[in-house]
Amino acid sequence: MSVETRPTRRGVRGRLLDLMFVRGRVREVRRAEGRGRWIGIRIGDVPSLDWTPGQQVRVHVADITTTRTWLSGAVRHALRTYSVWDYDASAAELELYVLDHEGDGPGARWARALEPGQAVVFGKPEGRFTLRPAAYHLFVGEETASVPFGAMLRAARDPVHGVIEVARPGDRLPLPEAERLTWRYRGDASAASSASLVAAVRGLELPAEPGIAYVAGEARTVQSVRAHLVDERGWPRRSVLVKPFWTPGKRGME
Ligand SMILES: Cc1cc2nc3c(=O)[nH]c(=O)nc-3n(C[C@H](O)[C@H](O)[C@H](O)COP(=O)(O)OP(=O)(O)OC[C@H]3O[C@@H](n4cnc5c(N)ncnc54)[C@H](O)[C@@H]3O)c2cc1C
Repeated sequence: MSVETRPTRRGVRGRLLDLMFVRGRVREVRRAEGRGRWIGIRIGDVPSLDWTPGQQVRVHVADITTTRTWLSGAVRHALRTYSVWDYDASAAELELYVLDHEGDGPGARWARALEPGQAVVFGKPEGRFTLRPAAYHLFVGEETASVPFGAMLRAARDPVHGVIEVARPGDRLPLPEAERLTWRYRGDASAASSASLVAAVRGLELPAEPGIAYVAGEARTVQSVRAHLVDERGWPRRSVLVKPFWTPGKRGME
């Protein structure tokens, strides 16, 4: 007896979504020592993801398949971008770190409410903020920048330098080569337009020749760090990769 295999309307929609997005389930949510959460996601039936350290995923922080999301206007802020801290292909597991920035954005709310077993939908890994061949790598950023930096530092084979500025020691992520990096603590000062981070980069002793710099985090701080490297140190612009992650007053960056 033959069985009717024509997909139902729901099945068609599901298949379309599977082509465009990855589905997973939260395996674990762990409060970090500082202000963030580690989120382990086990992915569904895609064979494996194509991920390069430094790349990010766009997460559906609202369910775009429901009428309610569209009618309420939540769809305008349904996507937030998170760097992948680690991807274990053999366990089909992805780890994210989401900073609880104390605002009430959809991304922060999503991470606060996550529970093991909950479904998560996200786009395939993307982005060009990845390691380039270099005599050495320079990493500059804050808490959120530490997420791609962790993955990139694990993959880096050349010497590394860097400055990471966080609010308090508890906000440090467990970065490889931590002892080779300069750590700055800004306390209650804002991470936006951080003059202290730029000053710390200015104070770094670096080889005479430029390497490749990876600068991420708050948009204005990132621009100031690039200006320092290009205008004061004479680095070629193409040797400074910048990635603004957030800035005061702007909702989502990508
Ligand atoms: C390529 C890329 C990678 C990213 N990777 C990460 C990551 O790994 N982990 C992570 O936590 N975030 C990461 N972000 C930032 C993330 O996408 C969201 O912007 C962030 O979570 C805020 O989203 P939200 O919906 O909570 O707030 P939004 O509605 O987007 O923003 C509301 C306001 O909250 C404030 N705000 C937002 N972020 C911060 C912050 N970090 N510190 C202080 N105030 C803030 C700002 O004033 C902003 O105007 C990344 C962004 C990009 C573009």
